[in-house]
This record gives sequence, C-alpha cells and structure tokens, in this order.
Amino acid sequence: MGRRTAWVGTSWKMNKGPAEAVAAARALAELSIPPHVQPFVVPPFTSLKDVCSILRDKNILVGAQNMHWENAGAWTGEVSPPMVKECGAALVELGHSERRTYFGETDQTVNLKVLAALKYGLKPLICIGDTQEEYAFNVTNEVLARQVKIALHGVKAHEFENILLAYEPVWAIGEKGRPAEADFVQNCHEQVRQTLIELAGEETAERIPVLYGGSVNLENAPHYAALPDVDGVFVGRAAWPVAGFKAIIESIAT
Ligand code: PEP
Repeated sequence: MGRRTAWVGTSWKMNKGPAEAVAAARALAELSIPPHVQPFVVPPFTSLKDVCSILRDKNILVGAQNMHWENAGAWTGEVSPPMVKECGAALVELGHSERRTYFGETDQTVNLKVLAALKYGLKPLICIGDTQEEYAFNVTNEVLARQVKIALHGVKAHEFENILLAYEPVWAIGEKGRPAEADFVQNCHEQVRQTLIELAGEETAERIPVLYGGSVNLENAPHYAALPDVDGVFVGRAAWPVAGFKAIIESIAT
C-alpha cells in the first residue's frame, strides 16, 4: 500500500454492545469502498470476534482498542495478543490518550505492546499527542519525538512497514476538544516524519501512514486528509453512526 492511500478509521470506544455492534458491522459490510481508501473500525472487545467475522472478506480492517504485551498469564482483566489475533483482528490501537490519562498507559508500556503486536502479526496503530499544557509551553514537537522514539524502540528494520501512527492532540479530542489548525497539523506531521526518517530511513519512513485525529468531522476531514504529510484520519464521535463514517469516507475519496 502506497503512502497516498487514505486511511479512515474509527474507534467505537466504550459504545455499542454486541447486538448494536453486529448491526453496525452488517451495515458497514454493505458499503462500497472507493479505491485508495483504507477504512478500519475498532470495536469493543465484546464484539471484536463478531465484527471481524462479518467484515472478513470486506476491505475494512478491524482492530482491538488495547491489549497486554504478554501472551498469557495471571493478568486479570487483560486480553493478550494471541487472543486478539484469534478473534481475526488485523490491527490494535495502542497508547490512546484516554488509556494514557485514565489507565496509566506509559510510553514504555506502549513500546512493550508495539513489539508484542508486531511479533503476533498485528498492525500497531500507535496514538501520540501533546496535552494542552505541553502545547501551551510549545514543546509539542519534543513530546511527539519522544513518544515516537520510545514506542518504536527495538522495532526491526523490516517491521516498520507494519506500523501505523495517529497524531491526536489531547486538547483536540472529544466533546470539549477544539480541532487543530491545518497548518499546525501539517507541521507536526512533518516533524513526526523527520523522527521516522531518523529511525527507519527516508524510503521506509515515507511509507509509514501517519493519521490525524481529534474532533475530525465531515466538514474538516477532507482538509486534513489533503495535507501533504497526513495519510488519513482517525475519527471518534462523528463516525460512530455508520452513515457518518460512510460520509467521511466519501468526502475523502472525492
Ligand atoms: C479519539 O478519541 O481518538 C477521537 C479522535 O475522538 P473525537 O473524534 O471524538 O474527538
């Protein structure tokens, strides 16, 4: 898949019980996906296997919202990489700001999970982002470089092509979030690309998709997706209804 494939994904977060998730997946299975667009959905664990089965032969990838780094053991409440894989998932979201803020996720645990995902053939979708405070102190670029370098520590040269990144400013996420300015986003993505070049070399770095997320909606999605260093969008609220997801996919394809 070339760099200019536009990725459009949504995490349902803690929404949609099993019945609602199955209904949504069936509706997603009916969508016709435009060329050069790669959609993905990230349902809760309770419907991961069902959503994977429904979308198995469709061009919509399915991911888990988190996972542990160990393959088994006494880790009450956790889900392992082989469990995620056995459900049929292709990718796993790691390091979302809600996991970092409320559940103690750190750059180091994200790194352990990235390495485990790659070992089990899952694509890690690594979320990075600056807090409001870091943004106000103008250290966004330093924060993003640190998060990327730690998350990817120990990744082997041939594994970089399986990585996906999403820049999601913490201050842009959710109902109280404010969407980032396009120039700012392009600048941050350029800096992330520079860090990837340092780690993986220019040719490989150019092929790693870097998505933007944070209050993306139907109106702003095509503008973000058109930025030179933005390879698609990662959407929350606006894509939870299948109609919203479909409209965003179409807005980017045109
Ligand atoms: C997110 O939490 O990853 C996200 C992008 O949410 P929202 O679009 O609702 O701001």
